[in-house]
Amino acid sequence: MSGRVTLVGAGPGDPGLLTLKGREALEKAQVVVYDRLVGPEILALIPEQAERINVGKESSHHLVPQEEISRILLEKALAGQDVVRLKGGDPFLFGRGGEELELLAAHRVAFQVVPGVTSALAVPAYGGIPVTHRDCCSSLHIITGHARAGKALEIDFEALVRTGGTLVFLMGVTALPRICAGLLAAGMDPDTPAAVVERGTTPRQRRIGASLAGLPRMAEAEQVSSPAVIVVGRVCALAEEFDWFGALPLKGVPVVVTRPAGRAGALSGRLRALGADVLEYPCIETVPTVPCPAMERAMDRLGDYEWLALTSPAGAEALWACLERRGADARALGGVKLAVIGPGTGRALRAHGLRADYVPEVYDAAHLGEGLAARAAGRVLILRAAESSPALTEALERAGTEFADVAVYTTRYENPRSEALRARVQRSETLVTFTSASTVKGFASSVGTGADLSRVTGICIGEQTAAEARKYGISVRVAAQATLEALIETILETAGK
Ligand code: SAH
Repeated sequence: MSGRVTLVGAGPGDPGLLTLKGREALEKAQVVVYDRLVGPEILALIPEQAERINVGKESSHHLVPQEEISRILLEKALAGQDVVRLKGGDPFLFGRGGEELELLAAHRVAFQVVPGVTSALAVPAYGGIPVTHRDCCSSLHIITGHARAGKALEIDFEALVRTGGTLVFLMGVTALPRICAGLLAAGMDPDTPAAVVERGTTPRQRRIGASLAGLPRMAEAEQVSSPAVIVVGRVCALAEEFDWFGALPLKGVPVVVTRPAGRAGALSGRLRALGADVLEYPCIETVPTVPCPAMERAMDRLGDYEWLALTSPAGAEALWACLERRGADARALGGVKLAVIGPGTGRALRAHGLRADYVPEVYDAAHLGEGLAARAAGRVLILRAAESSPALTEALERAGTEFADVAVYTTRYENPRSEALRARVQRSETLVTFTSASTVKGFASSVGTGADLSRVTGICIGEQTAAEARKYGISVRVAAQATLEALIETILETAGK
């Protein structure tokens, strides 16, 4: 049986503008055929086992020809695959979506269409421009500024000017001077407000506003490049007043979020909502030690311990995995008291119905050690990473508290996407979040030896993390507490917002 093709609009850039239905289609796809304008956060939703075909790659400036794209869609569908054709914005608005469906229809391949949020409307909106307003206009016109090679623009400027409506040009950066000249020649007032919005809905969005007559020179001076939307009409005069996106507190501030793979979501999402230009960089990965005879032995004799201490969500996960392997559950922990380093690890326990008996005031290894030393009359079992801070065990040793320090996982330093990271650290205003000393080590190894990190500001959780960052010449700011809120607060302060 043949599969089917779902034509999905990915929206203009902000991953939050992908529709629910589009996301659902992506998550079920077996093959995804996508374009250049689709961003990394949306591509990240594609299932790992799905085949990805990038037809927007500019190999020697030749995109994959349209017939070839249509043929790929047809072949994959005929092979029984569930195919998603992912396109920027809305698939039917200057997206050649219609052309791609023709071949499918001719072969009776099933297809459906998930419309997308188009850049023609969303980009002006993020630029503070409502495309219509009762006081300004009564129509909206969306026009392509793209001319076939060697041909003049096929735009009826007189007709457009007569409408008195808002004009939105897509694909118009190269033709901007000709577009403005055409409108002026057709009698439009040279003082008509106009704007170009570049890389709209993304943290690197720029809006350049000017009069119709002044826009080409202004755009040239600002070196506007594609993708950009050109808006002409009185509504553009509202942009300054309505510039909500440009006014976000972290608008455009480059932040690298280094956290273990799979754990970056919450922080990155919050920073993006504040306008930050976030690069997620999972430079460390925690790998549970399996089998782990030392943990098995400790579990066999759990009754010998008064306290069980965990210093990370990864440690908690290793514990649950061990219980699982033993065919046991939380009850196997019996009466042992639970200590965690901070709220993140506390949440990892609560997910399994357990509450920590002790969380130190300051969320680091030294304070956990001191707190346990003051409380423990019996032995302490510590389950944590192989190379961990000695501050915890030193505090216990000083107090004469007996303990077993069991390595239940190791930290692997990853090196993905180093080029993107290297480019970021060249920018002097780049902030990098570090939640543990190991994220500092992973970051430094990913950037590579010899890189100058003095321009980077590390936003750190905990003094030990900060000390590690200073070793690499990174200037540091330490969050007042080990919580996401405190980290974000420190970023806002550092960015001077
Ligand atoms: N189907 C798409 C448009 C494809 S044509 C949609 O509905 O949005 C490509 C043009 O869209 C670009 O040349 C540019 O004019 C516009 N565009 C797409 N994404 C954009 C963005 N993030 N910022 C500004 N313009 C964008």
